[in-house]
Amino acid sequence: MNIHEYQAKELFEKFGVPSPNGKVAGSAAEAQAVAEEIGGGNYVVKAQVHAGGRGKGTFKNGFQGGVHLDSDPVKIGEIAGQMIGETLVTKQTGEEGKLVRKVMVAESVDIVHEYYLSILMDRATSRPVIVASVEGGMDIEEVAENRPEKILKQFIHPLAGLQGYEVRKLIKGLGLSKDAGKQFAKLLTNLYKLFIESDCAMVEINPLVETTDDRILALDAKFGFDDNALYRHPDIMAYRDKDEEDPREVAAGEYDLNYIGLDGNIACLVNGAGLAMATMDIIKHAGGDPANFLDVGGGATKEQVAAAFKIITGDPNVEAILINIFGGIMDCNVIAEGVVAASKEVGLNIPLVVRLEGNNVEAGKKTLQESGLNLITGDDILDAAKKVVAATQAA
Ligand code: GDP
Ligand code: MG
Repeated sequence: MNIHEYQAKELFEKFGVPSPNGKVAGSAAEAQAVAEEIGGGNYVVKAQVHAGGRGKGTFKNGFQGGVHLDSDPVKIGEIAGQMIGETLVTKQTGEEGKLVRKVMVAESVDIVHEYYLSILMDRATSRPVIVASVEGGMDIEEVAENRPEKILKQFIHPLAGLQGYEVRKLIKGLGLSKDAGKQFAKLLTNLYKLFIESDCAMVEINPLVETTDDRILALDAKFGFDDNALYRHPDIMAYRDKDEEDPREVAAGEYDLNYIGLDGNIACLVNGAGLAMATMDIIKHAGGDPANFLDVGGGATKEQVAAAFKIITGDPNVEAILINIFGGIMDCNVIAEGVVAASKEVGLNIPLVVRLEGNNVEAGKKTLQESGLNLITGDDILDAAKKVVAATQAA
């Protein structure tokens, strides 16, 4: 799960990670009021979406940039008005962009230097890794690609935790002055604590800035949390913004289905994560592209299967469906009944290829045959994959 920057600021405050004062606003008038409340000096107004690259993004209405600076609260309100209700396209949103519903207004700071700082879980070493760079700001991807020597990495032993010498190594690597180094050490120690205690998958501050009045501040914040640990953090779970998530995945979550939306045109409905992965592979092998990963689980009910079927048929990119079931615990007839009920409800008008095997398979096949649905039967998984790919090519 991801959260918005204005929510990240609240977490920063709780854990003592310094960042400029700011508040969220849902309208132009509110944005102006927040600026007036902060009072004096300069302000920054930022689009709030679950994606980075906002500074260099473009709105579909032609307005340039999701991050703006101004010293006049009235102007801040006007800029907010240009962003709210509009769709922002950045390097990270894809070309469909993201609808901006809120902005954040904060005191703007004068920057001497922009650094990059993040902590993530590294799969290869099974450890948290701190990533830092003296070349922070809006082009970190370019730095990583062309000047990898500018990226510092510090792996942390999960039981020993962050050590003083590791912090000092980073301070030296970033070339921080004595005072800046002291502030950085405190900020990083608190950030590491926040990362561990909140079960983060990643936290990224880009830029981490040194200001003209010698402060080290987090100017931007991006969080990812380990979904499997969220039950331990009701306060963080409350930050969830379903508007930012794939609506297909939100619907699947309501029925406890393991669903991940993809870009292809062949939907698959499978029981078991391993079989679902294999099914996607074999669709690719047969020359097709899966539209989703979907594991209905071993003990799915007819209602869950029907819900799953409705989610995949509701995707406008889907041109054919492959149902691949190996009934170990799963009763093939439960799947068949769910599919029949759902397809009658939604009025199925695309090819449906079915491969059923295992527990109660005869009853399942009978249910499908007697349903009057126009089905293509696969003898085995490869045969079924070839047939579903052929069905999309014929269409
Ligand atoms: P992103 O483009 O989505 O990563 O959004 P950021 O919040 O990182 O903002 C983009 C850029 O705007 C930063 O790299 C800074 O250069 C600039 N910026 C953001 N906030 C401020 C601020 O308070 N003062 C100044 N001077 N620049 C800022
Ligand atoms: Mg940034």
